[in-house]
Amino acid sequence: MAVAEHRSKNYVGGEWIDGTSGATFESRVPATGETLATFPRSTAEDVDRAVAAAKEAFEEWRLVPAPERGNVLFRFARLLEEQKDELTELMSREMGKVLAEAGGDVQEAIDMSIYMGGEGRRLFGHTTPSELREKFQMSVRMPVGVVGAITPWNFPIAIPAWKLAPALVAGNTVVLKPAEDTPLLAERFIELLGEAGLPDGAVNLVHGFGEEAGERLVRHPDVPIITFTGSRETGVAVTKAAADGLKHVHLELGGKNGIMVMDDADLDLAVEGIVWSAFGTSGQRCTAASRVIVHEAIYGELQKRLVARAEQMKIGPGWDPETDLGPVINREALDKIHSYTGIGADEGAKLLTGGEQVSEGDLGKGFFYRPTIFADVDPQMRIAQEEIFGPTTALIPVKSFDEAIRVTNGIRYGLSSSIFTRDVNKAFRAMRDLQTGITYINAGTTGAEVHLPFGGTKDTGNGHREAGQAALDVFTEWKSVYVDYSGKLQRAQIDNVEHPAP
Ligand code: NAD
Repeated sequence: MAVAEHRSKNYVGGEWIDGTSGATFESRVPATGETLATFPRSTAEDVDRAVAAAKEAFEEWRLVPAPERGNVLFRFARLLEEQKDELTELMSREMGKVLAEAGGDVQEAIDMSIYMGGEGRRLFGHTTPSELREKFQMSVRMPVGVVGAITPWNFPIAIPAWKLAPALVAGNTVVLKPAEDTPLLAERFIELLGEAGLPDGAVNLVHGFGEEAGERLVRHPDVPIITFTGSRETGVAVTKAAADGLKHVHLELGGKNGIMVMDDADLDLAVEGIVWSAFGTSGQRCTAASRVIVHEAIYGELQKRLVARAEQMKIGPGWDPETDLGPVINREALDKIHSYTGIGADEGAKLLTGGEQVSEGDLGKGFFYRPTIFADVDPQMRIAQEEIFGPTTALIPVKSFDEAIRVTNGIRYGLSSSIFTRDVNKAFRAMRDLQTGITYINAGTTGAEVHLPFGGTKDTGNGHREAGQAALDVFTEWKSVYVDYSGKLQRAQIDNVEHPAP
């Protein structure tokens, strides 16, 4: 595939401009290692310009009626739909996903834009009776100001939409600092938002590195909200950097998600769910199933079927329609994933299949790793505790449902979990007892829809949720409004003595 050289820019105040320092970085095609495009390595000064543009635009955008703000998102959704094939193909190159998954990523952004466009006619607050006569009261959602959005590379169109659509419909303006591995997709995303009719400055894009542009955005005094998706370690750094400014910090962090397979499960279905969740997006989803907790009665049979399926997977570039498993994002990721194969072997886990880079032919130029399955994994081993973020999964045998719940919960993260069982009682107990933000019954650990809250417990975040109505809590402040039409001073808690509570 021919890869065009392309030099890209920041988007500030409605204009595409170069970075001030002249320094650049490159985005690469993970399937071939080739350079795709060159981007400005932005400095604090570039971030400051973008924030100033967003701050100025806020004064006008917050006053645009919310249904009109929603209309911009509807137009954006239509443009994404028109460009879906082109964006899907580009994603298979810049990020590496297979076509079906890349199309799903774009579709998620379309769905989110439509859902949040509709919020333009809702953004519900509450009215409630007063304890005093001739007094009216309500609570309304208020926009907050400039939102700093920092995103990872694994859902390069969907995650910016998850953040920007609710932020904008609520009346905020945005500066986006996308991941350094997928800047071209971020650029296409912002271009389309501009085309949809957002006023200049309402959305701004600053390319660059996390410790430079990202950190400046987090520390900027005119950015009251930081919405961040990425690793736990960076989430901690972001929280500390934002602390002095007492900012709203919204974190969506890592996962170490487990699928429980009980002795009464439909094994064919379980195998489908595990393969999709463990190896889809080459295991680079926050909801990837990197642990499978298996009842001992079916442990041998499940191993056999899973290994057979993993070894049938066709490895190749994401844009080839025959490909089941694309590359991982970059050389560093490949090395990290491979280091965990060594760690698992040293810890005494049994490598059933995979465990190596693919080096045949052209694939050797890219960052491909074989689907990897470890058996006989102890729940405390590092491969069962740490996020690997690659096509590696660990089979952990257990003797009972209760033990399976304990093991599934026995990690620092709390994003997603699942159980395969035909026993309705076990399914309901799992729904109650699994300590995750998302639980699936008879499905893998991945497959969220945009109108339910998305996020996790424990170290996966800090209590906020993305998507659905819950997302609006990140991007708005509540204001309570009291209107007294009695013409006299009425004092709450003092003058309401006509019919006191018993
Ligand atoms: P990462 O933490 O390395 O980077 C994420 C973003 O943060 C990038 O844009 C990066 O430039 C920026 N960044 C890095 N250091 C920074 C700093 N000091 N200050 C400000 N910004 C900084 O994560 P990644 O490798 O891009 O993504 C993978 C991680 O994201 C995994 O842990 C995965 O589980 C997680 N993730 C979570 C969710 C979720 O919704 N819970 C979704 C997708 C990915």
